[in-house]
Amino acid sequence: MKPVLLHRIDSQNFEEMCRRGGRVIRCGGLVAFPTETVYGLGADALNPIAVDKIFRAKSRPSDNPLIVHVSDIKEAECITTNISRLAYELMDAFWPGPLTLILRRGGVVPDVTTCGLDTVAVRMPAHPVALALIREAGVPIAAPSANTSGKPSPTAAEHVLDDLAGRVDMILDGGMTEVGVESTVVDVTHDPPSLLRPGGIGIERLKEVIGDLKTEREVTGVPRSPGMKYTHYAPEAGVVLVKGESVVKTIQRLIGTYEGFGRRVGLILCQETAESFEAGERMLVFGKRGDPASIARNLFHSMRLLDRREVDVIIVDGSFDQKDVGLAVMNRLEKAASKVVAVKW
Ligand code: AMP
Ligand code: MG
Repeated sequence: MKPVLLHRIDSQNFEEMCRRGGRVIRCGGLVAFPTETVYGLGADALNPIAVDKIFRAKSRPSDNPLIVHVSDIKEAECITTNISRLAYELMDAFWPGPLTLILRRGGVVPDVTTCGLDTVAVRMPAHPVALALIREAGVPIAAPSANTSGKPSPTAAEHVLDDLAGRVDMILDGGMTEVGVESTVVDVTHDPPSLLRPGGIGIERLKEVIGDLKTEREVTGVPRSPGMKYTHYAPEAGVVLVKGESVVKTIQRLIGTYEGFGRRVGLILCQETAESFEAGERMLVFGKRGDPASIARNLFHSMRLLDRREVDVIIVDGSFDQKDVGLAVMNRLEKAASKVVAVKW
């Protein structure tokens, strides 16, 4: 086991800590660091031995490529080829920020980073620690979320510690992350571009810049089947997602059923729904229905908190607004859920 090195960043030690983190990355080590989306588990993206450590630390399937984080557009140009005009427009509009672009891969990027693909995912994060770390490292940083594969993504340094203690050389603690869900992934290697994953930047904002955007469903022609086979983003407890506008009665019925079988039930509810339930330590409010940004920020933390409180089942209220980052929240919930209940009128 490696010694745990969790460093709380403040204005006094910011430069020193980023410098030390940069050195660890340059020497082939792993550094967990805050971004505006979730915490990342970083390694030198151009060093195949270092990148391989990420896959092992997370138990990440070896066919799931990594996002490479850069601190400026020039660095993105160094690891790619043939960047289109449209891709530059998106960089100008949304970088630094929660938008990952799939670009043509340059020769310097090793196979292990892209899992052998001829494209590479690139993003410039909007967090001062992340940007300083990349600059200090002097190399682009490959970084998936800093959690054990399949678990909820980490939105605080403590979450990283819970999952990866002993498997990471350094953790830079920058407090709770601001967005709370991962970046939006857009493939710009063809025109029109396609959305591969909803995330921190909403589709509405993307369309303002690029006009046409194909969604995953349109591209593959296959509708997703939520909760059937996915185990992404999942807490230890089973997740039951209740979708619809009027969810109170259904949630009450489900609580009765699960408790009748002796299960400990946790709730993650919108504020409006929570008013119909009795507050207690197993009921968490993740935000108001019309405020998907706050719901995104609290989602993964709430799941981890209820795991600590040892519930067997988590019922999640899906009555929130799916505009903007709300679409990404619903996407993560559908992947985490073992059961989806749609409330019909
Ligand atoms: P994460 O695991 O949260 O870091 O997310 C990275 C996402 O980007 C995953 O869904 C990957 O499958 C996807 N991704 C990374 N590189 C590529 C690529 N070259 N082409 C398509 N998707 C990619
Ligand atoms: Mg992840």
